[in-house]
Amino acid sequence: MPHSPALRFPAADWRALLTAAAVFMGFLTASELSIVLYEGPAVFAFHSGVALAALVLAGVRFWPAIFFAALLSYWQHATPPILMLTYALANSIQAVTGAYLLQYVGFKASLRRMRDIFWLTIVALLASTIVPAMGSAGFMLSAYLGGAGAPVSFGSRWVGHMFSLLVIAPFLIRWIAHPIFERTWREVVEIATAMSVLFAVYAFLFFTDIEQINGIPMVYAIFPPLFWIALRLGSRFMTLALAGTSALALIGTGLGYATGPTTVPAGELLFLTQIFLIVIAVIFLLVTAVEEERRTATAGLQGHIDQLQEALTKIRSEDDAKTQFVATLAHELRNPLAPLLSTIELLTLRGPDARDFPVMLSTMRDRVRTMARLLDDLLDISRITHQKLKLQKTTLDIVQVVRSSVESMSGYMQKRDLAFNVTLPHSETLLLEADLIRLEQIIVNLLHNAAKYTEVGGEINLSVAREKGNALICVKDSGIGIPRHMLQKVFEPFQQVNAKGGSGGLGIGLSLTKRLVELHDGTIEAKSDGEGRGSEFVVRLPLLTVSPIQPTRPKKKEENPLRIERSAGGTRILLVDDNYAASETLGKLLEFKGYTVRFTHDGESTLRAADEFDPHIIMLDIGLPDMSGYDVARALRSRGSSAAMIAVTGYGQAEDKSRSQEAGFDHHLTKPVGIADLEKILAPLASGRA
Ligand code: ADP
Repeated sequence: MPHSPALRFPAADWRALLTAAAVFMGFLTASELSIVLYEGPAVFAFHSGVALAALVLAGVRFWPAIFFAALLSYWQHATPPILMLTYALANSIQAVTGAYLLQYVGFKASLRRMRDIFWLTIVALLASTIVPAMGSAGFMLSAYLGGAGAPVSFGSRWVGHMFSLLVIAPFLIRWIAHPIFERTWREVVEIATAMSVLFAVYAFLFFTDIEQINGIPMVYAIFPPLFWIALRLGSRFMTLALAGTSALALIGTGLGYATGPTTVPAGELLFLTQIFLIVIAVIFLLVTAVEEERRTATAGLQGHIDQLQEALTKIRSEDDAKTQFVATLAHELRNPLAPLLSTIELLTLRGPDARDFPVMLSTMRDRVRTMARLLDDLLDISRITHQKLKLQKTTLDIVQVVRSSVESMSGYMQKRDLAFNVTLPHSETLLLEADLIRLEQIIVNLLHNAAKYTEVGGEINLSVAREKGNALICVKDSGIGIPRHMLQKVFEPFQQVNAKGGSGGLGIGLSLTKRLVELHDGTIEAKSDGEGRGSEFVVRLPLLTVSPIQPTRPKKKEENPLRIERSAGGTRILLVDDNYAASETLGKLLEFKGYTVRFTHDGESTLRAADEFDPHIIMLDIGLPDMSGYDVARALRSRGSSAAMIAVTGYGQAEDKSRSQEAGFDHHLTKPVGIADLEKILAPLASGRA
């Protein structure tokens, strides 16, 4: 059986009771005033303003409260039943229509926008016709049925209701919707002064019969204080001013203080006063809203200016950081260059027969690797930032990966005389979906930092364990530690605890590591008890829950390329590079390995040499002086060259690779090219040819 919702009666809600009470009071006040002030054509309809405000604030569904309050009030005045019903219904329909229309156009109770005042005016104009129209109809019906009483004119009722909707409703809506406000003492003094001036002017106008002084109509005196309130005090005090002065004006006029020598009956004067008050209300509510809108717009503009200024400051500080970064970069690139240069000079002086020749070679290789590592990190950061880094995930055993990273780092640890303890889970495989190269990069980075920031003779502990659904990798050192306030910051790019310490880094290693960990849906945190008390980096990577396919084993470390046999005899390579020095050293290496090498340094001579030399392999630099490597490749292919073509360039992004593929290249290598990478491509080509 469908669940039937509980019945809800609006009258059960305290808001409905309040609405009814308020409307009833509105009726009472209106009828009392009618009796006290006059006998005549003006109509007081305070209840309709109260009713509209009540439904705008509480919601249209409270209309029955209005219906019953109206019934009660008419019943109290012994109105004939048919009229009683028609009037009660008419008042409810009027309030509902008004509130519904306002709700429909998105009316806001703060009355700060021109459109709110515009729609309030339209609604007041239209809705205020409902009670007069239905009332007249009801009256005619009642008279037809033999009832008594004289009908009040449609116009009087219309104006009476309109006045109520435009003066009483906005006052109630504004103050009830936003009852709390704050003002400074100075503002309070200003409010009190402006209000006093305005009320004094109204009192003078409506409680004396002086209409003009020296021919100047006194009514002009209301404008300065009204503008004052509109331009400086806002909609809250404008609605109060309009309601208060209207009361003053109606009472003054009704009691006959302002009639002067006129013969116009009080009722008619009241009617005219109501029209005057309506006009003033519409004009000044609008002026107030215009000013409020202007203020809001100015404040918004100021907000934007502030935001822009903030952005500018940020750009400036980022610019400073970049300048700082370039300086550090230059420094870090020059760092390995200096020993490289001295080693080369030493080699030149002593010749290859020197006793420490292997040491010198190893120094040189280390330096070049450091530089290449820096550049790789930089490129990786840029790729990640531009969301171009794609992981090649496979199922891996983290224990195996850690083992292979440990192997590659142990030489460095030994060199720095560090005690390196590794704790791995016994006979357990911890499987996860990861990119092998990137996972190694994460572990090696952390180990490298641990070694770098620990004094010679210190201790480094690496452990891997299972922790709930994660693999937990901890790298702990006994090194220089990290101050508490820097624990989070070390993961931000270019952040170094002591930038001038000459750590031999750019401050991007950890930020790269963090992003790589996050790309694997993992987390990383840094811990340290403070400076000089060691650091710990904890990585958590989600483990696979389902049984996977056979995990990929990390590759064996590469052989020393210099040990590769001379197996390339007879293979002709055309080496094209406008950097003479670079191509000469590479050429020598290739010749040493048994290749026959021809050199060219621009596009034109390459095309010629390709005809004469008929190379098996062409290695092409992309940035040539006369034409691009891509164009040379295209030209060669269009001439029917079947040589294997290798692009050698400083650009290694995915789009560079696809561009070279389109141009007809078979391979794409990013500089600096190590002989190992080169051999991987050249050896199969050479042996295939053989
Ligand atoms: P850097 O190239 O400077 O090493 P990283 O991003 O790898 O850049 O590290 C950022 C900073 O974090 C380092 O400059 C260093 O101050 C601090 N740091 C990183 N690892 C450690 C560690 N194991 N011990 C102490 N400080 C560390």
